[in-house]
Amino acid sequence: MCDSSSQKLHVVCLPFPAQGHVNPIMHLAKLLHSNGLHITFVNSEFIHKRLSNSLGPDFVKGLPDFQFETIPDGLPPSMDDTQDIPALCDSTRKHCYTPLKELIGKLNSLSSSQEVPPVSCIIADANMSFAEKVANEFGIPEIRFWTASACGLLGYLQYDELVERGIFPFRDESFANGDTSDSTLDWVTGMKNIQLKYLPNFIRLKSKSDDFMFDFKGSVSKDCMKSSSIIINTFQELESEVLDVIMAKNPNVYNIGPLHLLNRHFIDQKKENEFMSSSSGLSFWKSDAKSIQWLEQWEPNSVIYVNYGSIAVMNEQNLKEFAWGLADSKQPFLWIVRPNLVMGENAKTPNLPKEFLDEIKGRGYITSWCPQEQVLAHPSIGLFLTHCGWNSTLESICYGVPMICWPLYGEQPTNCWFSCTRWGIGIEAKHEVKREEIADIVKEAMEGDKGKEMRRMSLEWKTKAMEVTDEGGSSYKDFKRLIKEKLFVTI
Ligand code: UDP
Repeated sequence: MCDSSSQKLHVVCLPFPAQGHVNPIMHLAKLLHSNGLHITFVNSEFIHKRLSNSLGPDFVKGLPDFQFETIPDGLPPSMDDTQDIPALCDSTRKHCYTPLKELIGKLNSLSSSQEVPPVSCIIADANMSFAEKVANEFGIPEIRFWTASACGLLGYLQYDELVERGIFPFRDESFANGDTSDSTLDWVTGMKNIQLKYLPNFIRLKSKSDDFMFDFKGSVSKDCMKSSSIIINTFQELESEVLDVIMAKNPNVYNIGPLHLLNRHFIDQKKENEFMSSSSGLSFWKSDAKSIQWLEQWEPNSVIYVNYGSIAVMNEQNLKEFAWGLADSKQPFLWIVRPNLVMGENAKTPNLPKEFLDEIKGRGYITSWCPQEQVLAHPSIGLFLTHCGWNSTLESICYGVPMICWPLYGEQPTNCWFSCTRWGIGIEAKHEVKREEIADIVKEAMEGDKGKEMRRMSLEWKTKAMEVTDEGGSSYKDFKRLIKEKLFVTI
């Protein structure tokens, strides 16, 4: 714990304003707080408003020494409820530097009246790399948090090589979707024989914003590798091949995941529940607690849980094929259909056919958002149909739930490839969703030999995830090393 004779250290945590980025930084912030540090958690103004709506305005009623602050994300109010990640990346990079600098100045000025200790360190999401310049100006260290997988990071680091080898830009669109994307890359150390289509997919989607993301992600991943300290929410044993390559380029990496499991050693659950109205943390949507009650009625390992995370979108046809695939599977299922999940006119309230709703009565529960960690931890859950976001993948691993992988965006295809081919815990569903295929893979995953093997591997990884976060485990040790070397705290 902190030396009681000195003032507390004060860490400013700066997430990128998206659900999958806020969650892991919040886990880390709580972890640091429970080890005696003063925390300022900086959301964008818009995310702060959303959290007030979903959790109630009291969500900020913090623990002592844990405060929330906001900065603008730079987007015009007309784009307020945007899920447009490229726009957010561009805007935060261009517009957040000055507000962050002013905020740190304000926090430091409060320190003269002893209200808060002066800021001693910034932990910033890798997408917010401008924080390094702010930290330098105040003469304090900055730690970079790569919230996605290490394999995702290594995937983005191949972008320059794709250009050098003349693979990208593709000569025409058929190259992006046809033979080339199936071609095997034997030169990517750490992910040998990965196919082009499983590298982070800003090379395959073709639009102006994907060109922007190709450059943006290419540059933040390189920036991240130059950082003096990098935190990754993963564990050594899970991504060892990849981490060997990354750490040969920069040894200052702290693999401290899965963070929510590491938390169990340090966080007083009672205090945490008082701290936030939702035990699962900072959900942007109101979580349907009834989904957990609904799970109670089912046999162990019998329910399919379907969720595509906070950003993924699909077309109406995809939604219908999923619906009928789930109906045809004859299994009970919990299906999260987020507002705005479907592109187009019916975006706000996705339309599900009445015949489907009649057909699944009693065995399908459909809602717009749930406490995912609690769902995955529930014994009735036997399978997770997921978009392969890194938090979802890691949470699935922690609770030993095998996956059907339907990756869409960014590094999700890379996570899918590792889940299916290296970790043995996933089966991939084709991008062009077909009800027959969904029903068949569910059957295979729930009843077939492949399913049995996936369940066995999932349980092995679950045990590993617990071990690495136990005292003496690799993530526990890396966390101890991080706070000793970078924040001068010993536990
Ligand atoms: N999540 C949740 N309830 C939901 C859907 C998602 O609590 O109904 C959480 C989930 O547990 C995870 C995060 O939202 O921590 C989603 O992050 P992920 O990286 O999986 O996907 P993204 O939303 O970034 O695509």
